[in-house]
Amino acid sequence: MLIDGKEISKKILEEISNDLHQISKNLGRSPALSIILIGNNPASESYIKAKLKACSKVGIKGELIRFESDIDKNILKDEINNLNNNDDIDGILLQLPIPKNLNEREIIEFIDPTKDVDGLTSENIGFLNSGNPRFIPATPFGIMEIFRRAGINLPSKKVVIIGRSNIVGRPLFALMSGRGKNSNSTVTLCHSKTKNLSEFTLKADIVIAATGSINILNGSMIKNGAIVIDVGINRVEDESRKSGYKLVGDVDFESTKDKASLITPVPGGVGPMTIAMLMKNVCNAARKV
Ligand code: NDP
Repeated sequence: MLIDGKEISKKILEEISNDLHQISKNLGRSPALSIILIGNNPASESYIKAKLKACSKVGIKGELIRFESDIDKNILKDEINNLNNNDDIDGILLQLPIPKNLNEREIIEFIDPTKDVDGLTSENIGFLNSGNPRFIPATPFGIMEIFRRAGINLPSKKVVIIGRSNIVGRPLFALMSGRGKNSNSTVTLCHSKTKNLSEFTLKADIVIAATGSINILNGSMIKNGAIVIDVGINRVEDESRKSGYKLVGDVDFESTKDKASLITPVPGGVGPMTIAMLMKNVCNAARKV
């Protein structure tokens, strides 16, 4: 059966929109999110478009701040500092990836952790790993919300996460293996150096693929009735479409869909949940969590 992330996210956005009336009343203005884009990565452009659309849907003031890819690091630091010090900005998001000439970790640390709605500063990673999160990165947050709303119980489940990035795999590992109410899973974190992936995935009740590697998981690699969460968003050429490409996940959907008890599609699974939970983080930032 499919997990309809689009439908779940619609519900969450409605809830956020209702909450926002009170938050805006208390603030005397709408919550505000600044998105920083460096360079002109086409995939980033389309993610930002979706984020700004969600902002206007729920009543968040979203703004995009663009910089050329050769921006000087110190100028960028000053610009981010201006946002840090601006009381009318609640959330700051650096759209990743950034051009290779800049050090991603260094730039992320310029963001005030109390406005870091992507949860990527070292301070916020530390909070998350100590079981006391301030901002949970939106994609893992969205996946946890799927489990909660779909009534999937995590305690004592065997979980395999494929991918160990700071934005998806690692925070998800912390959340699912943590002591939270619907957590307490036994989690194995796999990556590109893992040998014989099937050895791990075949034993798992839940498999999460977050690699950017197409068909990293197929039906022969999971047990009957496993739950499969496909985080990947990959562009493949498709001349029949106006855009010239279509989006596919990391999972070979056709061979997996009937063997899995539940599976998230791409598009329409984790993607819309990520956007909804980003909106939630902006609300929390505006409430000064
Ligand atoms: P990264 O490139 O930062 O990390 C990818 C991870 O996958 C790494 O840990 C890497 O291992 C591992 N990996 C890559 N290839 C393989 C392989 N063949 N076998 C096993 N492990 C592998 O990617 P992100 O985490 O940022 O994104 C992952 C995917 O999720 C992408 O497709 C991205 O577009 C998508 N994404 C989707 C979002 C959504 O909202 N749905 C949000 C964010 C990302 P190693 O560490 O050894 O290099």
